[in-house]
Amino acid sequence: MSATADDLERHLNRIDGRGYKAYKDIRGSYAFPAFTLHIDHVQGDPFAAPSRLRLEIPQDRAGFPPASYHHPARRHALAHYLALAFAEATQASRQKRGSGNSGLLSIDRPGQQILQRTCMTVDNHRLEARFTAGLPASGRRVLGGQAAEMLCRQLPDLVDQSLFYRCHDPEQLTRWGDTAEDADFLRAALAQAGLIAFIADGAVLPRRSGVDDRPLPQDAQAFQSPASLRVSFDLPCQGRVTGLGLPPGITLIAGGGFHGKSTLLNALERGVHNHSPQDGRQLVVCHPGAVKIRAEDGRRVASVDISPFINGLPNGVDTSRFSTDNASGSTSQAANIAEALEAGAQVLLIDEDTAATNFMIRDQRMQRLIQQQHEPITPLIDRVRSLYEDHGVSTVLVAGGSGNYFDVADHVIAMEAYQPRDATQQARHIAAQLPTARRLQETAPFALGPGRVPVASSLDPSRGRRPVSASSRGLETLLFGETTIDLSGLEQLVDPSQPRALAAALVHIWRHYLDNGRSIAQILDALDADIAAHGLDAISPHPVGDHALFRRFELAAALNRLRSLHIAAPA
Ligand code: ADP
Ligand code: MG
Repeated sequence: MSATADDLERHLNRIDGRGYKAYKDIRGSYAFPAFTLHIDHVQGDPFAAPSRLRLEIPQDRAGFPPASYHHPARRHALAHYLALAFAEATQASRQKRGSGNSGLLSIDRPGQQILQRTCMTVDNHRLEARFTAGLPASGRRVLGGQAAEMLCRQLPDLVDQSLFYRCHDPEQLTRWGDTAEDADFLRAALAQAGLIAFIADGAVLPRRSGVDDRPLPQDAQAFQSPASLRVSFDLPCQGRVTGLGLPPGITLIAGGGFHGKSTLLNALERGVHNHSPQDGRQLVVCHPGAVKIRAEDGRRVASVDISPFINGLPNGVDTSRFSTDNASGSTSQAANIAEALEAGAQVLLIDEDTAATNFMIRDQRMQRLIQQQHEPITPLIDRVRSLYEDHGVSTVLVAGGSGNYFDVADHVIAMEAYQPRDATQQARHIAAQLPTARRLQETAPFALGPGRVPVASSLDPSRGRRPVSASSRGLETLLFGETTIDLSGLEQLVDPSQPRALAAALVHIWRHYLDNGRSIAQILDALDADIAAHGLDAISPHPVGDHALFRRFELAAALNRLRSLHIAAPA
């Protein structure tokens, strides 16, 4: 590479006033005094998606001490912090230059969860930032002088203000790293401690709103563990913490309406990820194999074994290979559980607010009215113990409406005015005093279905003349070829950059893993191994700056919701 920042500046000035296509020639790499700039992709016109750029700063210049990135959790926290710093610097110096999105520099902005992202990476050798630039135009003419100003003056200034160690308060950086390392430590320590989740005393669980994931600023009551469930850990960075340790088995979260039940469950859902130090949930951690389960009527289901829950449908349909284009509340919830187990879920999180009532329970009177042979559903209450005892899968369940679950729960936590109380003994007592005449449905142990193998030809990413087209819209929609995948039921997707990465991952699967009759679980394993070995870039043919890591459960869920998916008949 021989071109320099001066060459780029001269070139941009030279093409001033020419047609927009003249920008195409600036693709390439340029040595700036403090970094190397790579212009990877140049937009075709001022209104197209902006151009993709990347810059690398050698670590000996960036100056971050190895202790700030040697641990994976610290590395991702540092990258998150730097992406935010760069985003804020860009925001502050925002100036539009010409038409379209001309003149805007922008980086993928992280939210409350610390996720591995492609927009910023840090290692021993270098720091790499990926971002976009709207190359300035007036109408369809190149504004060369303005482009030179943006790339050769503004950009170096932004980098100088945000991407070097000396730009930052070392204490602040340490706090981010400590928080993430401690959360990772806690999550790993859960298993040894025989727990599935931990909620630190002092944690702030409520959020500003359903669309704003930042902590509730005022009147939030800090979490206080009940003594009987209190555990403590010695964290590597912050020392001793105490909080509620959630044991495996069946846990019921009971309590009156509006007393904080769903807020607690939501915090557990998010506890599979690390959080920024000010989040309030930074020391709330959950088993990484925890999956939120809900009813999702209308979804597609492809050859899923839902027979543990649903059997003997009036039309004689075989529910061990159940398919539908329009699932009901209960069949969708049954499929969601079967698919989560297939992907390796170890903990199921269920909220009555989003569950199908007839899937959760059938009470005594209904049992009497509708004889078992006329009821295809075995409700979760009759399955949840076998899931735990035969397969080690725990369930945390929010249920304010039915005390029937007292009979199957190992632990009952009552939420009262946002505070947890251990109500296990009391619930046992009540269950003994007021026995329900509800019959536990006699059922065989919960059998896991055989691994499903996708039919290769049922995944087709082509759209019109484009052989591969996959993208996403926000958090809820994934476009794969000609089909639209509805992700709105996936409550553990936390960032719009995850669906973008999911779209790329589906294409990657289509390219590499559909041969050899691999099962969905084997496909997920192969993808996990790729990402572990090569990072998130493993799923993209060229560098992109707006992907964030998803979990295998969300990938399986996206694949399972693909309306064209077909599963091979068992051999
Ligand atoms: P439930 O599921 O029991 O009906 P929610 O969890 O939906 O209740 O909480 C009801 C309301 O109370 C929500 O607006 C939530 O933000 C708020 N809230 C929850 N926990 C707290 C808390 N610890 N401090 C203050 N407000 C809270
Ligand atoms: Mg609720």
